[in-house]
Amino acid sequence: MSPKAPITQDVMTIPRKLPEGKINLVGLTRDQLREVLIENGTPEKQAKMRTGQIWQWIYQWGVRDFAEMTNLAKAYRAQLAETFVIEIPEVVTRQVSEDGTRKYLCRIAGGHEVEVVYIPEEDRGTLCISSQVGCTLTCSFCHTGTQKLVRNLTAAEIVGQVMMARDDLEEWPVPGAPKDETRLLSNIVLMGMGEPLYNFDNVRDAMKIAMDPEGISLSRRRITLSTSGVVPEIARTAEEIGCLLAISFHATTDETRDVLVPINKRWNIEELLQALASYPKASNSERITFEYVMLDGVNDSDEDAHRLIDHIKRHNIPAKINLIPFNEWPGAPYKRSSNNRIRAFANIIYQAGYASPIRKTRGEDIMAACGQLKSATERARKSRKQIEAEAGLQS
Ligand code: SAH
Ligand code: SF4
Repeated sequence: MSPKAPITQDVMTIPRKLPEGKINLVGLTRDQLREVLIENGTPEKQAKMRTGQIWQWIYQWGVRDFAEMTNLAKAYRAQLAETFVIEIPEVVTRQVSEDGTRKYLCRIAGGHEVEVVYIPEEDRGTLCISSQVGCTLTCSFCHTGTQKLVRNLTAAEIVGQVMMARDDLEEWPVPGAPKDETRLLSNIVLMGMGEPLYNFDNVRDAMKIAMDPEGISLSRRRITLSTSGVVPEIARTAEEIGCLLAISFHATTDETRDVLVPINKRWNIEELLQALASYPKASNSERITFEYVMLDGVNDSDEDAHRLIDHIKRHNIPAKINLIPFNEWPGAPYKRSSNNRIRAFANIIYQAGYASPIRKTRGEDIMAACGQLKSATERARKSRKQIEAEAGLQS
């Protein structure tokens, strides 16, 4: 056991059996899929081939109905339909921002909701997906961190967000049609709700599916996992997922980081930097992104910029620094740094030889910006309470 226990425990798991007794095939690894097919009557000799066929139908062609799996015998299709389903989160609402950003609210088992954001850019499109409902961590600038309700998403619910977006973007290929190389959904960032490294296995399985060449086939270099700094899981991320890494750094002294990113009390800046310095995949072509939210008067001084560079240089970490203008939310205890301050900060970093892009805030008009995600049910509940209070209806 690690001498330091995690700051939080993982939360309830969802049984694979769905209420009506059927098994969802989405989110299973290839091995699990094969196993579940055998358990439910597929002859062992055929299982490998059937796994490959069904896998392709689900992840390459986006098929949800066994009846459409035309290279399988009709009787076998019917047998599959009796036992299994191909189920992904259900879209409850979809909002489209003036700038083209799309925010989806999706319902998952148990009536919980998660938000998924699609950000189109000129040469690519990024889907920001969630790994948990809410988050057990309580970063003081993050809206998700104020949400009480927390549950881990299953692998099906995580990869299901990608499938849902492909549905909406109408991006499943049509059999026989020429392959279109320009993808609307070309990148995934695990930067929605939740701490992905507190739901490691499900995130790994889901991303493995997204990367599988016989399916959604996104390159591992187009997937970025953002963590607040769950140090013991960082090396595993490289080994078992192999994606790019982003770190919610946000402060340059332990004193400030303890407040902004309280997981820092478990694993402080030095421990975090050491884990990053030995991140197996880090190289000049695969730099680690340091995310740094710009909070007026809190972490945005010139000294902070210099300290940030010192940390990175001292540990020789191939890095780029992504400056995020703070996205304010109702009741937030911080203000966004001024544009001049952000530019001055960026300039110090740039002069030191590091890329320091300032993240464009997208989808602000639909509350889709980074760190603003929070379940709408909770918001609705709160506002209903407020309404009741105003009307003098509360007991
Ligand atoms: N839990 C993970 C991933 C989700 S948060 C993590 O913390 O890294 C994705 C990014 O949004 C993180 O860098 C987070 O610090 C940042 N963020 C959270 N709230 C924000 C806000 N209000 N404004 C700007 N960025 C925010
Ligand atoms: Fe959780 Fe990340 Fe928000 Fe912190 S910043 S509360 S880790 S989602």
